[in-house]
Amino acid sequence: MNTSPKPVDTLLTGGTILTMNARREILTDAAMAVDVGKIVWLGSAESAAQQYQSQERIDLNGRVVIPGLVNVHGHWAMTLMRGLVDDCPLEQWLAKIWRVEAELISPETVVLGSQLAMVEMMRGGTTCAADMYWYYQDVTEAAREAGFRIVTGPSFAEIEGFEDYRNTNQAIAIEYLDAYREVPLVHPCIQAHSAYTTSGPTLEHVAQLVHDNGLMFVTHASESKGELALVQERHGKRPLEVLDGYGLLREQTLLAHCVHLTDDEIARLAETGTSVAHCPSSNLKLSSGIARVAAMVEMGVNVGIGTDGAASNNDLDLFHEAQLAALVQKGITGNPQVLPAEKVFAMLTIDGARAVGLADQVGSLEVGKSADLAVIDFGAANLTPCYDLYSHLVYALSVGDVQDVMVAGRLLMKDRAMLSLDEEAIREEANRIACEVKAL
Ligand SMILES: [Zn+2]
Repeated sequence: MNTSPKPVDTLLTGGTILTMNARREILTDAAMAVDVGKIVWLGSAESAAQQYQSQERIDLNGRVVIPGLVNVHGHWAMTLMRGLVDDCPLEQWLAKIWRVEAELISPETVVLGSQLAMVEMMRGGTTCAADMYWYYQDVTEAAREAGFRIVTGPSFAEIEGFEDYRNTNQAIAIEYLDAYREVPLVHPCIQAHSAYTTSGPTLEHVAQLVHDNGLMFVTHASESKGELALVQERHGKRPLEVLDGYGLLREQTLLAHCVHLTDDEIARLAETGTSVAHCPSSNLKLSSGIARVAAMVEMGVNVGIGTDGAASNNDLDLFHEAQLAALVQKGITGNPQVLPAEKVFAMLTIDGARAVGLADQVGSLEVGKSADLAVIDFGAANLTPCYDLYSHLVYALSVGDVQDVMVAGRLLMKDRAMLSLDEEAIREEANRIACEVKAL
């Protein structure tokens, strides 16, 4: 019998593995074997040493491996407008942002802003994120180069001043979908900005594309009271009624915000399997309101957590977002038992993966899934002592505690050094562009 150790690409060994599998197993003094981008084995560090040998070995030194976080809603390139417009309502905020965007955006600036977003997200343990923005083809290529997992695609909107952007053109949209259908790390979807910026015929066209191609559909919905009034004026209905009318409430649909929902609308989301992207910082900052996430979860709606764009957050720190989500729901319901830490961490990982249609590939650390993960150093003062991992992940961790990040078996951050993106050059260029924005 041949007992020589089996070669694999990478072995992570000697730490705790928080799996987020259905049984929520936490393996101590554990190891993980990664080969050709996937998790091929999980078990004890002792048996790993006997069974596997690897070219690359990550000694966990007691650290904790978690599934990479999934940021279910964002506009990556808006990092370039971080802190540009603060302290005003959504409609006023949008007017200013759209004015700046009309001058600022080009394929080059959008790619740069997206690279900055990827650096920030990876530093915070995020390995997969949804993006809704212009020049999605260029951003897709930038994500591939960086080794970061992206969910994006054509975003339909009819916004005054943006008529020239042809990325809503059907031929281009189909070309993109065809080109990226089988490309690793790229998960094409169809998006509409919102029902208030999209006409009936356009939504009908979008619905057709979504149904014909069996793709994820992403849109903003019921974010503010102002939006409800605009949608009523344009379509004579509430936002969810409009989407339901086009068959767009379904398992592969993700709705950002859902701040203003009736009980019947929440029940309809649960019934249709539609997911929600909860973005508490953005909703609070723009005074849009507070989504009834505890009620949604209670009624069986799948909810992931998103940062939204850095212009309305103003960072892309999902751990902070999770903490805020938990605390605000406890505050508004008067019930400290709603959204316990384990559930909130699931929203950051496996529920988020489900929200973007990738629960079979990422969101938990299980054999057969992609090796998308983050290594957390639990030795810092803010994480000492530790009685419960979920508690620390949601209530006490800071982004500086994230040590390493891997996507599809490739290390993208090692001991907090970025390996696939030139962070210094990106920051320098972003600062240069900011000087141009100031002059606008
Ligand atoms: Zn958004």
